[in-house]
Amino acid sequence: MDIIVCIKRVPDLAEAGLEIAADGRGLRTEDLDFDINEWDDYAVEAAVRLKEQHGGVVTAITVGDEDAEEVLRRALAMGADQAILLDDAAFAGADPFAIATALHACIRSLPFDVVLCGAVTSDGASGQVGGMLAALLDVPQVALATGLEVDGGRARVRHEVEGGLEREVEVALPCLITAQSGLNQPRYVSIRGIRKVADVAIAARSAGDLGLAATAVGEAGSRVRLEGLLLPPAGKRAEILEGSLDAAVATLVERLRERGGL
Ligand SMILES: Cc1cc2nc3c(=O)[nH]c(=O)nc-3n(C[C@H](O)[C@H](O)[C@H](O)COP(=O)(O)OP(=O)(O)OC[C@H]3O[C@@H](n4cnc5c(N)ncnc54)[C@H](O)[C@@H]3O)c2cc1C
Repeated sequence: MDIIVCIKRVPDLAEAGLEIAADGRGLRTEDLDFDINEWDDYAVEAAVRLKEQHGGVVTAITVGDEDAEEVLRRALAMGADQAILLDDAAFAGADPFAIATALHACIRSLPFDVVLCGAVTSDGASGQVGGMLAALLDVPQVALATGLEVDGGRARVRHEVEGGLEREVEVALPCLITAQSGLNQPRYVSIRGIRKVADVAIAARSAGDLGLAATAVGEAGSRVRLEGLLLPPAGKRAEILEGSLDAAVATLVERLRERGGL
């Protein structure tokens, strides 16, 4: 079975004080730690488990610069067999559609039965790349997978639907699945494990290598234009409700009524 997993290197924003970069169009990331996007960790684990059950080849792909190699090495340490870095100045300023365009151009030249993506990223958080990629590849997609089994050319997927519900669907391969938290418990990656794959060659591809014009990717190939980022003004109107829990709840209900929320 040929399995492809799309992964992204993201800054750890959980504990960081966010600052907007000087150009007003991104975050200052100089002092931040980076790692694989959490949902992509579930996707890599699912890919490696499918290989362990059915045999085959797992290929990890990222669109990023040379620093993004570290998440590819992490995927290799988890059990991926090969890794591809889509790296080109022309990819800069991409919206989700332009990222999906680059991924599609790479994946269409590879054999694949299952493509795995994360459901969402912890930075961009659009949750759009997987769906767009499935549409470009013209394969069925199941989003927000919390369970996955492949058998006889079909994937049985448990996935989240609206209202906090889950259901099980079956799709024919090839298909694209986006991984939700709860799909699995990703295996631990030790420093020794990363060292073991330090010499594995990572294939690099430019837009030209993928047969893409520079105008089809990056900012030029994007459907969304980012005008700028703004931090919300400091919360002057925040009110801490004091007193016992009952008193605080009573005040909260009163405030909501006053503002038309109830
Ligand atoms: C107009 C615009 C301009 C932007 N300009 C920049 C910029 O200059 N620099 C910058 O760093 N960011 C920029 N971004 C943000 C960046 O391009 C987004 O992170 C990207 O579009 C992916 O969207 P997302 O993170 O919301 O992914 P989601 O749709 O939330 O991701 C879902 C899944 O898609 C896959 N995926 C997502 N991104 C990648 C990737 N890069 N490689 C492989 N797989 C991936 C992963 O499996 C991921 O879990 C810009 C965004 C917009 C809208």
